[in-house]
Amino acid sequence: MTDPSETDPKGGPPAGADVPVLRGRCPICSKAAVHAYRPFCSKRCADVDLSRWFSGSYAVPVVEPDDFEDESGER
Ligand SMILES: [Zn+2]
Repeated sequence: MTDPSETDPKGGPPAGADVPVLRGRCPICSKAAVHAYRPFCSKRCADVDLSRWFSGSYAVPVVEPDDFEDESGER
């Protein structure tokens, strides 16, 4: 007897799994964030973050295929 409404596997993020961001801290310089520029402390840091995005520093983490050279022998 399982109640389907009890646990929904695709019912959104689990409780406690909040945004992985240091609350109240500027991710650029770790100063206290300003509400107007959240999560940054100033427009300058927001611009820094934005430029990082454009420069590719924040690119999606690359998952290196472990079995890329599979034909070269087994490990
Ligand atoms: Zn800052």
